Amino acid sequence: MIDTHSHLYDEAFDQDRDTVIKSCQDLNVTKIISPAVDKESYKKMNSLADRYNGYIFPTMGLHPTSVGCTWEEDLAYTKQLLFDNPTRYVAIGEIGLDLYWSEEFFIEQCEVLRQQTMWSLDLHKPLILHVRKAYEEIFQMLEPFGGKLRGVFHSFEGEEKHIERINRCGDFYIGVGGVATYKKRVSRLLASKVPLSRIVLETDSPYLTPSPLQGNRNSTENLPVIVKKLSEIYSVSQEEVIRQTTENAERLFFE
Ligand SMILES: [Zn+2]
Repeated sequence: MIDTHSHLYDEAFDQDRDTVIKSCQDLNVTKIISPAVDKESYKKMNSLADRYNGYIFPTMGLHPTSVGCTWEEDLAYTKQLLFDNPTRYVAIGEIGLDLYWSEEFFIEQCEVLRQQTMWSLDLHKPLILHVRKAYEEIFQMLEPFGGKLRGVFHSFEGEEKHIERINRCGDFYIGVGGVATYKKRVSRLLASKVPLSRIVLETDSPYLTPSPLQGNRNSTENLPVIVKKLSEIYSVSQEEVIRQTTENAERLFFE
């Protein structure tokens, strides 16, 4: 299994991080992708990725909810880290648009997304996209790139009409985690409109704990819960879910 979205550098793991990672390895989680959020996260993320080199893979990007009045210098710093050492990062992310937490810096969010999307083309790296209450807006940003983009819509919770537009943006996968275990609408949509060949596993640890474990910290150790849910959604064995989603994640991030 590959967890394509896990913030194990988060302070929620400060007390037992190594134990958690050991147990992920015992569960046969073979790789973990560790998305960046903002300046504060970069250092913790990179030192964890160095410690688990070849197991935890960092990405680089400025998260939409971290776009504020210092966005220009924050973005310049993000760019410097990325372009100083591009081979270190397996993706540009997590980046995107978020109108759920705040609309205050929405224009700036769009500009930050646009620039980082250009970097992904320059460096031939996939995007990890965070979208909340802003699907229409993100398609308006991404469609002008003419279907040349690739990446993952992380923690997808959109609607049927969005699936076709995702495909129009380029070579995209759908990241499935906790949301699919508690939103029936999402699991039904996946079953009817998204083939398993377009799904990657994720947890978004320490957030989005899957049902029935809500109320607890989420961790990559809960990845088997997502596998089980997908095996029900697609009526295939858990082994098949693991085989196909691992192949998908390898193709997107490691080829
Ligand atoms: Zn995240």
